[in-house]
Amino acid sequence: MSNLDTSIRFLKGVGEKRALTLNKLGIDTVGALLRFYPRSYEDWDKITPIFDCNQGEKVCIKGKVTTVVTEEKKRQNMTLYKFNVADVSGQMTVTLFNNRFLAEKIRVGREYLFYGKFSSNTLFPSMTSPEIRSLDDKGIRPIYHATAKMSSASIEKLVKTALNGIYIDDPLPDKIRQQYNLCSIKYAIENIHFPASQEALKRAKNRLVFEELFILQTGLILLKGKKKLQSYSVLKNSYLDEFCSILPFEMTSAQIKASQQCIEDMSKGKVMNRLIQGDVGSGKTVVAAALMYNAAKNGLQSALMAPTEILAEQHFKTLCVLLKNTPIKIALLTGSLLKKQKGKIKTALNSGEYDIVIGTHALLTDDTAFKNLGLVITDEQHRFGVSQRARLAAKGKNPHTLVMSATPIPRTLALILYGDLDISIIDEYPKGRQTIDSFCVPSSYEERVYGYISKHLDEGRQGYIVCPLVEENEELPIKSAEQCFNELKNGFFKNYRLGLLHGKMKPKEKEAVMRSFKDGDIDLLVCTTVIEVGIDVENAAIMVIRNAERFGLSQLHQLRGRVGRGNYKSTCIFISDIRSGITKQRLNIIKSSSDGFKIADEDLKLRGPGDFLGSRQHGLPEFKIADISADSATLRIAGIAANEILKDDPKLKTAENLNLRNEIIQLYKKLNEN
Ligand code: ADP
Ligand code: MG
Repeated sequence: MSNLDTSIRFLKGVGEKRALTLNKLGIDTVGALLRFYPRSYEDWDKITPIFDCNQGEKVCIKGKVTTVVTEEKKRQNMTLYKFNVADVSGQMTVTLFNNRFLAEKIRVGREYLFYGKFSSNTLFPSMTSPEIRSLDDKGIRPIYHATAKMSSASIEKLVKTALNGIYIDDPLPDKIRQQYNLCSIKYAIENIHFPASQEALKRAKNRLVFEELFILQTGLILLKGKKKLQSYSVLKNSYLDEFCSILPFEMTSAQIKASQQCIEDMSKGKVMNRLIQGDVGSGKTVVAAALMYNAAKNGLQSALMAPTEILAEQHFKTLCVLLKNTPIKIALLTGSLLKKQKGKIKTALNSGEYDIVIGTHALLTDDTAFKNLGLVITDEQHRFGVSQRARLAAKGKNPHTLVMSATPIPRTLALILYGDLDISIIDEYPKGRQTIDSFCVPSSYEERVYGYISKHLDEGRQGYIVCPLVEENEELPIKSAEQCFNELKNGFFKNYRLGLLHGKMKPKEKEAVMRSFKDGDIDLLVCTTVIEVGIDVENAAIMVIRNAERFGLSQLHQLRGRVGRGNYKSTCIFISDIRSGITKQRLNIIKSSSDGFKIADEDLKLRGPGDFLGSRQHGLPEFKIADISADSATLRIAGIAANEILKDDPKLKTAENLNLRNEIIQLYKKLNEN
């Protein structure tokens, strides 16, 4: 008998080698094995009459063997065993390959269960290499995510061993379980692996989904709650009109509304905690500027954190231009500054000399301190983890926080990520912005596409060719950015100035290339998704995305948002040869819609949340069982439950919440390691 923390190495049936294989699946302890849920099930209880089976369907048939097993040697290494099976509704032929062992056990006149893919394409219905079991061996069987070295069946066996006599602490407090009618952890774990019935499986799953979403949300509230608080700064006056008067353009009404909402938050007796969602190019930076201007005028410092140096620099420049005739002082703090320069800026921030600082993760270091940090803004929020956001905020005394995101986060995901945030939406583009023409073409159009690009370049515009990331071991005919760059530089575009930008380059090199592109010294930039976030080059009017099927829909939308940022009519061409099923649907969506929110929702529906944003990107753990799209109702209920429990026991100090507390600590330990 073992307990949950026992290393998987010490489970009966696991040797050193197997332990390694299991580790690769993320299983290091007996507990982790039990939380390694099946990815699907085979229901041997659900018998389908032969007559009702459909072509290609996986079914379980209960039938009597009506003929002796014939043996047919096809080739040296291939022997076929065949026999017929009948139930009351019809009959079929069963074929086994090389499986003498199994064939010899089959008895004429006896009934068995046959589980496999049914084929009615042949003259006579048939099943090839089904699993065959005796009648009393029915039940619902788990199918695990297997690897070459570890079959589903061997995982199943290990789980059975692990379950034997194990005791599991229930992370859900009794009160919550009763209130929401959830089964015990023991029942849930047993039945998620070996369901007694479909009903039992449903009950088990329901509880585990709830548990997962409940723990996550309780943890998030605790994390956010840390900065809730006694004192905070209040804006005494609004300087929005004054700010508008120094702008070279008019804010859109959506920008004004979002700014007003934020200023109102900050002027009232509460700490602002708001998310601004606005599609690419909707002009979020100006809103950030308006708020920082207001904070500065009210004597408070602001920090704006961006995910990349290029972006931080871009914001810095934008702000310097906007605020050049004001007394407001702005600093830029990024990792690539010299130590001495950094030191100087940090000292000045600490003494309150700067009103505004723009930076990257460099802002998070321990030695960055402020005199009176009153407003914290994070741009492209999805690039930062929850804990990073909290870390920057911790540098002030409950500063107001604003997060800005262009990645339209589906409502359900937003609920988890930003459960306690107010949301402003910028749903309007600045005047003069034109829609981007989008096309999908196969790669046979390549030359024509290049011709089209060169036409733009000849008119003085700039462009991008985006290539997918290619893993070194992939044997697909996909060109990496580097390959593509080399070919084009010496081929079609030899008379143009080409640049190459990809993630493996050193930050300094990347910066240099991006800067040349911004300065107009590069006509055509061949790149990977490193350009994805926030870069603003108004002269860029054409983008081509190769192997478009390899990108997420939202990612394609983000990429496309890099063109059409100025007044030039812009085009985005998606190249893909895969025009089947989901891929076709997805490309059609992106081609016909420019609404990031709609695209994100469709993406979530088509691909499932696992793929939607890499978990790294949104800083959340990967879900083991919950599906935030399908389980959105549970998500909401678990959120309510999380708030309830914390109302009664804000720090989870009571005995009945001890297990819950431990689970949360575990979860966030893992999160912070990522
Ligand atoms: P995003 O929301 O994607 O971060 P930005 O803030 O980078 O968008 O703005 C995109 C571009 O639009 C910038 O060049 C910015 O100067 C410009 N812009 C923003 N607001 C307006 C406006 N109201 N009128 C005209 N141009 C604007
Ligand atoms: Mg932006």
